[in-house]
Amino acid sequence: IKLSQVRKTYKQGGNEIRALDGIDLHIATGEFVAIMGPSGSGKSTLLNVLGALDKPDQGSYLLNQDEISAMDDDAASEVRNRNIGFVFQSFHLLPRLTVLENVLLPQRYSKAPDAQAESRARQLLDRIGLGQRMDHRPGELSGGQLQRAAIARALLNQPALLLADEPTGNLDSKSAADVLSLLGELHAGGQTLVLVTHDPAVAAKAQRTIHLADGRVAEVVA
Ligand code: ADP
Ligand code: ADP
Repeated sequence: IKLSQVRKTYKQGGNEIRALDGIDLHIATGEFVAIMGPSGSGKSTLLNVLGALDKPDQGSYLLNQDEISAMDDDAASEVRNRNIGFVFQSFHLLPRLTVLENVLLPQRYSKAPDAQAESRARQLLDRIGLGQRMDHRPGELSGGQLQRAAIARALLNQPALLLADEPTGNLDSKSAADVLSLLGELHAGGQTLVLVTHDPAVAAKAQRTIHLADGRVAEVVA
């Protein structure tokens, strides 16, 4: 992952808001990076750019060999579906589907359905300790279990990059510790991880913490 002089400006009323103001960032395969910073500093915008949900107005974003900033929306969405998994603070699991069906959701929209997906989903759920909960619905799970299921879903298509926005933000401390230890295991297994967090325990587990202020990299703590 290589961002070079990435800028992103929003127009609001007559004003221009520089959400990202010249970001340079290089993230190696297998790295675990945390992004921190005050509200409004550009964390969500940076995550959206990294996730190919949003394109920079200026600058370059290389993911593997692909220049994301030059892609049209269809190409960007294809790169996203193939390479990127997303985890959110509020889980975003569908309440009427079982845990297993939720984990399989990325396959529902895949152009190349994968016959192995269900067995991979079952394996993932076993591995993260939800083997006995596959046929339950989200309403029957604790917050930590919900977030682990959401992480399994994000991993279903074996993304090169896992992005998480405040993955422990809605969890009590024990559930947060469970999720954090899962993230640590994924990192140990070679998964590239980038997450936005306010939680110092999460940042402490990362190899590098990028501190944003006013859309710029203010500090990098290794
Ligand atoms: P953070 O995630 O660190 O709180 P954001 O990336 O959400 O920061 O926002 C960075 C800046 O860009 C803020 O000033 C915010 O108000 C502005 N911003 C973000 N999204 C939009 C949008 N869709 N329209 C207008 N301004 C936005
Ligand atoms: P959560 O992680 O709790 O699911 P998100 O960070 O995804 O929350 O988003 C919180 C709220 O802010 C959502 O309603 C989302 O639509 C909105 N939001 C997030 N990013 C942007 C953005 N770049 N521009 C406008 N709204 C945004």
